[in-house]
Amino acid sequence: MESARQPRVTVLRLAAASPKPDIRAMDARHHDHDHAMRSGAALTAAAERALVAAGEQWTAMRASVFSALAGFDRPASAYDVTEAVSAAQGRRVAANSVYRILDLFVANNVAMRVESANAYLANAHPDCWHDCIFLVCDACGRVTHVDDDQVAAHIRRTAEATGFRPVKPVIEVRGQCGDCVVVETQANPV
Ligand SMILES: [Zn+2]
Ligand SMILES: [Zn+2]
Ligand SMILES: [Zn+2]
Repeated sequence: MESARQPRVTVLRLAAASPKPDIRAMDARHHDHDHAMRSGAALTAAAERALVAAGEQWTAMRASVFSALAGFDRPASAYDVTEAVSAAQGRRVAANSVYRILDLFVANNVAMRVESANAYLANAHPDCWHDCIFLVCDACGRVTHVDDDQVAAHIRRTAEATGFRPVKPVIEVRGQCGDCVVVETQANPV
């Protein structure tokens, strides 16, 4: 039943053919493509390719918003991104234009919205579409991003079985990240 999404995936995979990605440890089950989690310059290049492949321009302002967003190590509110872009450009940028660009990024798989944090993350895989799963640490605020297409497909099928037409499952898991679990265990040995 995931067939409705397939054409989009195919188009973006074609756009993402060339450079060798820096693959980090990930907890994913992908059978049909070379899933890559990117960072740094490779991430920026992939984001630009994805936006251009979608028929959008990679303007200086959009590049600046992406750079600010990618500079955060945890989800950033639209306000935080506006502040970071303003600081980088040495002038006040309009919050409205930053909001619009973030929405455009989300619509084109370049950024992701973490609903429970009301905040945004740069998408580490702008080359391929997934119903990403976010692990939200209540202790430090970090968000780990994992992909498991079988889990997402199961949720979509479950919704479809009721006659519901799912647009996007929001899968966020609240808890404590590995680092915070270690700190807590050291502070309070069992
Ligand atoms: Zn992928
Ligand atoms: Zn993902
Ligand atoms: Zn944590």
